[in-house]
Amino acid sequence: MKKIAILGSTGSIGRQCLQVVDALPNRFEVVSLAAGTNIATVAAQVKRYLPKLVSVGTEAAAQQLRAALDSERPASGPPLPEILFGAEGIERVATHPEAEIVLSAAVGVVGLPATYKAILQGKDIALANKEVLVAAGELVMAAVESKRVSLLPVDSEHNAIHQCLRGGARGEVKRLVLTASGGPFRNTPVAELDAVTPEQALAHPNWKMGRRITIDSATLMNKGFEVIEARWLFGMPLEKIHVLIHPQSTVHSMVEYVDGSILAQLGPTDMRMPIQYALTYPERVASNDCALDWRSLRRLDFDNVPPGKFPCLELAREALRVGGLLPCALNAADEVAIAAFLERRLPFPGIARVIEGVLHRMPRARIASIEELLAADAEARRLAADEVERQGAAVRHAS
Ligand code: NDP
Repeated sequence: MKKIAILGSTGSIGRQCLQVVDALPNRFEVVSLAAGTNIATVAAQVKRYLPKLVSVGTEAAAQQLRAALDSERPASGPPLPEILFGAEGIERVATHPEAEIVLSAAVGVVGLPATYKAILQGKDIALANKEVLVAAGELVMAAVESKRVSLLPVDSEHNAIHQCLRGGARGEVKRLVLTASGGPFRNTPVAELDAVTPEQALAHPNWKMGRRITIDSATLMNKGFEVIEARWLFGMPLEKIHVLIHPQSTVHSMVEYVDGSILAQLGPTDMRMPIQYALTYPERVASNDCALDWRSLRRLDFDNVPPGKFPCLELAREALRVGGLLPCALNAADEVAIAAFLERRLPFPGIARVIEGVLHRMPRARIASIEELLAADAEARRLAADEVERQGAAVRHAS
């Protein structure tokens, strides 16, 4: 049985990972779990999967979890797991001595130090938490290489590329093609974007995901992050990573080879498939009900990203081009701007304006350690809060 640690077990990816575990009995043992604040869900997971260690976001959440587990535990029941919290807790989950592979699926940079430490301890990583590579790609890949661990992409686009790259040698690749659904505003005129609401932005046409990544899909920042992720995962230069709008999200991504052949990976919009691929690689295991319904597949459309409509994609490319602290600042500013948009303190186009302001103000400096990176993250968040204030003041002044 492969022993796994799950960071972000209560989230969209974490819960689907546990469905994969259920669908493949006797293959996996869950040894440790980390979550944030969803105590009811994590308590139910502990009862079902009997991990040895569990961590939640705060001390108060840890007390709640202990009380919830204690109150329902029969006298003859299994012992309670060790319960921890905070940054140290999630790191202990990721580095549990028995864990062979870590599903990194917390949202944001909270999962970064834990994932990095797991790599340093020689654990294989199934990576959903894209912020890890966006913020710290260079450091993380150096650790992956020096420790010779496998870093397997769960993100469906990178998972598709990982599969397509099995069809040829690296020197034969002409370019990677990441597909993007275009999100809910693909056909919305730019002039109308000022008035779109959080509810509209949260209504993704194809995928059901956590709130942050859903808004990132509406701005196409998610695709920008994926460009950065692809650069590090596959060692491809920026100019060889192309983005194509594909509204059906059936072709998850493609690799174009030098002879003009294109290998594409197709599948349903179901994250259990890439999660299973990453957890069972290099084996392919008979699947858990994920199948493409060819009869409902009437057409596959492709188009270029309309120039100027999605500035976040360009900001991500620019951050990668400049490098150093900027990709980390890009991620931090995006998270702050999205929170402000969801709280209706910022209009939708304001998200890109806040990020642009922060990138402009961040120092051009290199990063040598995770500690430096976390300091840059904090500074970018401070600048982003300031930019949100400025944008809000500008909107109030104009109206
Ligand atoms: P969700 O918002 O659904 O889940 C986030 C998870 O992170 C939850 O389990 C949450 O816990 C946990 N978390 C938050 N704060 C902390 C903390 N301080 N300590 C420990 N855990 C914490 O996000 P998704 O599952 O959608 O996404 C997870 C990651 O995967 C993101 O980086 C996303 O970009 C990426 N991804 C997601 C895809 C998807 O289809 N959903 C596709 C590709 C990539 P709690 O709920 O208990 O607070």
